[in-house]
Amino acid sequence: MNVPPLGVGACTRCDNGAMSVTVPAATQRKTEIIPPAELTAFQTQLLTWFAGAKRDLDWRRTRDPYRVWISEIMLQQTRVAAVLPYYRRFLKRFPTIDALARARLDAVLRSWAGLGYYSRARNLHRAAKQIVARHDGEFPRRIEEALALPGIGHYTAAAVLSIAYGEPHAVLDGNVARVLARLGAIRGDLRRPKRWQDLAAAANALLPEQAVPAAGAPTTEAGDWNQAMMELGATLCTPRAPQCDACPVARWCRAHALGIALHLPAPRHKPKPIRLTLSAAVLLDRRGRTLLLRQKTDHSSLFSRLWHFPAIQAPKSAPKKLARYLKSVFGITAALEPLPPARHTVTFRRILLTPFLVRVAKLPPPKLTGVRRVRTPRLAEIERLPISSATRKIAAAALAVSPESHRGTAEATREPYG
Ligand code: SF4
Repeated sequence: MNVPPLGVGACTRCDNGAMSVTVPAATQRKTEIIPPAELTAFQTQLLTWFAGAKRDLDWRRTRDPYRVWISEIMLQQTRVAAVLPYYRRFLKRFPTIDALARARLDAVLRSWAGLGYYSRARNLHRAAKQIVARHDGEFPRRIEEALALPGIGHYTAAAVLSIAYGEPHAVLDGNVARVLARLGAIRGDLRRPKRWQDLAAAANALLPEQAVPAAGAPTTEAGDWNQAMMELGATLCTPRAPQCDACPVARWCRAHALGIALHLPAPRHKPKPIRLTLSAAVLLDRRGRTLLLRQKTDHSSLFSRLWHFPAIQAPKSAPKKLARYLKSVFGITAALEPLPPARHTVTFRRILLTPFLVRVAKLPPPKLTGVRRVRTPRLAEIERLPISSATRKIAAAALAVSPESHRGTAEATREPYG
């Protein structure tokens, strides 16, 4: 083995890297993780292993670009086992791109509830509309057209086009980056843009150009190759326990030869977590109704821009400040009963949720609140609206202590919100 060292490191499956890049000749030399003379043997070995070892997953039984697309978006930063029930439910509710495009955004967000990262669901919905309007309802085959859709970056475009259409675009996600870093004994922070670009070029250089005569490997299309690389990273070349003894490509792995597989890639530099507190008011009338808002505020992103309880952001629990806010915006002067706090995390933000129950004779009429988007569902049934897990945690704290919140739920099934 004669592998030139590369200055590269690791990442996740999100679309933050360059893929399908045009690589200048000088850079090309740096992308040779596997010597050209051994490339075919390497490809054959990996594809043969993949044909026999791949996990049987729903999205591997189809080449429907819509289904591949949904699976790829859901799999970003979520484990396979966690995605499966969401994937099945979502496709039952929206079986085609057309069905997704025609759906109301709130229905899409409700189906997404629990997966987090609601911007992905919003982008899916917008992209579906664009595909229907501009591409006759077919996921585009050209990478430029795919990249022009909302929420589709290089990773997703390469994954969908290669798996659904066999187009020759190499994917680069966290699993592939880790495998490449180890194969090439690449040190340093893989997240640096130049390094990530080098990795993208290295991934492209490994992509089989044509059929490889591999016994046991049914096809050698780009989709199989990409999935084989990702499968290796997900099942054998794992972050903390690489199983080099079982690895089909161990003989080409420089990190294994050097005994440093466990130390690569270099740990990511994570931003320091930001700590903040959100004090929220669960207004509750005698019929068990509460008040939810949907408005753009400094902290609405912490509720995924979905329906949420009136809240304020403060350095620590701030009942007085919350009381002033309730009085000035809603004209409410009722007492605030503290509820058990809960913790919530949104990317690098660590949030302490400090909810308060505010029992009122009557909820403020929507027109008097000064907030344009207001709903007054029963507290026990707010799940019927798209809400974030932070709102769900606050509601759970209130439901645990307020029997009146369960009143009138039978009639709620007949009566619309608001
Ligand atoms: S030999 Fe080990 S470190 Fe190298 S690619 Fe295989 S599992 Fe990963």
